[in-house]
Amino acid sequence: MARDPRYDILFEPIKIGPVTARNRFYQVPHCTGMGSNWPNAHAELRGQRAEGGWGVVCTEEVMIHPTTDEMPGASMRLWDDDDIPMFAAAADKVHEHGSLFGIELVHGGLSRANKTSRMAPLAPSHQANKYATLPQARGMDLYDIAMFRRWHREAALRAVKAGADIVYVYCAHNVALPMHFLLPRYNRRRDAYGGSLENRARLLREVLEDTLEAVDGKAAVALRFAVDERMGPAGLEWQSEGREVVEMLAELPDLWDVNVSGWENDSVTSRFSQEGFQEDAISFVKGLTSKPVVGVGRYTSPDSMVRVIKSGIMDFIGAARPAIADPFLPRKIEEGRHDEIRECIGCNICVSGNNTAVPMRCTQNPVVGEEWRRGWHVNTIPPKGSDDSVLILGAGPAGLEAARALGERGYEVTLADRAKEPGGRVSQESTLPGLAAWARVRDWRVGQIQQMANVRVYLDSFMDDKAVMGFGAQHIVYATGASWRRDGVGNTNRDTIKGAGGAHVFAPADVMEGRVKKGPVVVFDDDHHYMGALLAEKLATDGMEVVFVTPSAVVSEFTLLTLEQGRIQTRLLELGVTIRQQTNIAEIGTDNLRLACIFTGQESELAMGSVVLVTSRVPNEQVYHRMAKHPDVMETVGIKTVALIGDCLCPQTIAAAVYDGHLYARELDADQGEGAEVPYRRERVLMMESH
Ligand code: ADP
Ligand code: SF4
Repeated sequence: MARDPRYDILFEPIKIGPVTARNRFYQVPHCTGMGSNWPNAHAELRGQRAEGGWGVVCTEEVMIHPTTDEMPGASMRLWDDDDIPMFAAAADKVHEHGSLFGIELVHGGLSRANKTSRMAPLAPSHQANKYATLPQARGMDLYDIAMFRRWHREAALRAVKAGADIVYVYCAHNVALPMHFLLPRYNRRRDAYGGSLENRARLLREVLEDTLEAVDGKAAVALRFAVDERMGPAGLEWQSEGREVVEMLAELPDLWDVNVSGWENDSVTSRFSQEGFQEDAISFVKGLTSKPVVGVGRYTSPDSMVRVIKSGIMDFIGAARPAIADPFLPRKIEEGRHDEIRECIGCNICVSGNNTAVPMRCTQNPVVGEEWRRGWHVNTIPPKGSDDSVLILGAGPAGLEAARALGERGYEVTLADRAKEPGGRVSQESTLPGLAAWARVRDWRVGQIQQMANVRVYLDSFMDDKAVMGFGAQHIVYATGASWRRDGVGNTNRDTIKGAGGAHVFAPADVMEGRVKKGPVVVFDDDHHYMGALLAEKLATDGMEVVFVTPSAVVSEFTLLTLEQGRIQTRLLELGVTIRQQTNIAEIGTDNLRLACIFTGQESELAMGSVVLVTSRVPNEQVYHRMAKHPDVMETVGIKTVALIGDCLCPQTIAAAVYDGHLYARELDADQGEGAEVPYRRERVLMMESH
């Protein structure tokens, strides 16, 4: 198909100093959870981005010296020449597709603990440092500043040697030494690097000038700058010093990559932000510089992209999450297939991968992180290995993805669900406050499946064991999901909570389907992900008096990893929800609860009308177990394999269910024989001595 001419503007080449990007699609630096631990995986991931049409593809944070050591966190290192090959590998893969390769050089200053290098964290002034193993960072003297400038210069030279077309100076996310110098709350110096804004910005200017001189026109120099910290007058604001810094340095970098700080404000989830959520803060930049500007805002719609270019907000459409969810987004627009874009749902499961130092995962894109390890290509899948047919029970995220991917491989697939609409838990959860974008997990897959003549979908179709065995498919897949427990068994209580099971005790589905009667309600969250707080939010918004009880120290503890925890707890407090942290339920009475302190066991009473238990889930595997009792019948009817996938195998995230569905589809006919015990390639450590 031909490209829609409305989108032609997105494909104009744009000059960045001495280099030219082939279009306006710019994959800004973003972490992958891989870092220097998985350099092959990193190179392949970036290469597939370039193949997908991103005109610029950047690395994640690249630490320039052992005084900025993030380990065991996963960032990259360019400490000496031995580190060059891992960047050169990525550069080659990106260049193969005609895209530019950017390397983001970073010194994390007081934000880095230096746990493995054991060197003192560096800061503008001596100060407390909660990131460090020892709780202090060292105020730099003039010698330290000179050394920092030298390290950055040397790293810039190495970046060029590795094949970078764009070398970054980094002053964003509140985890950058030049930013620490800029902010008065960190910079208490009285010399030429402290006091006035000009002085506090001196180091940033010097590093920019050093980098420009070092790369000497062989690459462009980009400045990544957070213009606002979203803290009001307590932090950097775009209306005052954020703007003044851009004015001061306007023509110095070859490109302005602008955003807001910290990371939780730059990567806000869809629960708390809409597409284009940074425009209020960054729109002024283009008016102050003639250099190209790139910004982000979770743009997935080509119409929005055209709007931000035409309205003069930015020159490049920057993307991290939209590029993770659909690495082929630009190619789809170019080929007139823009309605096939797999849109990011803004859930930040990708961020949670990085924050636990493992290769990232994505709810929408099951291939990310597996490009090299399993040899998966993000846009193609091998054709089917046989003429077998597959029956999938359950059209939740796992079943839908398995059906879609098997369909793409050419298999005859039947997808049956007892519900009247597809989507399983996604259809239900996307009705909760702020989660509407999650329905994209269902909608994209349903849209793809509708175009496949070899995939048939039957809704309102419950299947029992007899129906499954009589169906005639060679492969049976149970993607029948999981159900929330009603007995309180979870992380803290491994046994049933006394009194659970009464008519006033509810599970999450009861809230979502409106069965909880009006009145005071307690939400007990021993799951610690998003569900408990979301239900509390919904009940409070519906006008109920809500008490939120959790054994954890904070509300929705897992969401610390998705950068949402602060916003979630704030929202509950603003809605008037009473929060009882570090508290367990000892017993549920008819109109009250006996609570217990998780440390001392000291008990207290709490009056309530209803209680909603959000604790853990059990797989819906009853039909599977009934069928498994009849191996003889299965053999007679020609069933070759039976599999459980998604929440029916193990209740986890939606991302895990999608991944499971995809894995099943890829491996249906894969060689599982001898030598296949380890299912993926591993990055190997080079042994330095012979044994
Ligand atoms: P997952 O996250 O693993 O995809 P979900 O809970 O989202 O799981 O989806 C499971 C789907 O399976 C639901 O839509 C449910 O209606 C359907 N389902 C469960 N049991 C059966 C069955 N026996 N026959 C048909 N559909 C079923
Ligand atoms: Fe978007 Fe979620 Fe995928 Fe991250 S994990 S890219 S937020 S869909």
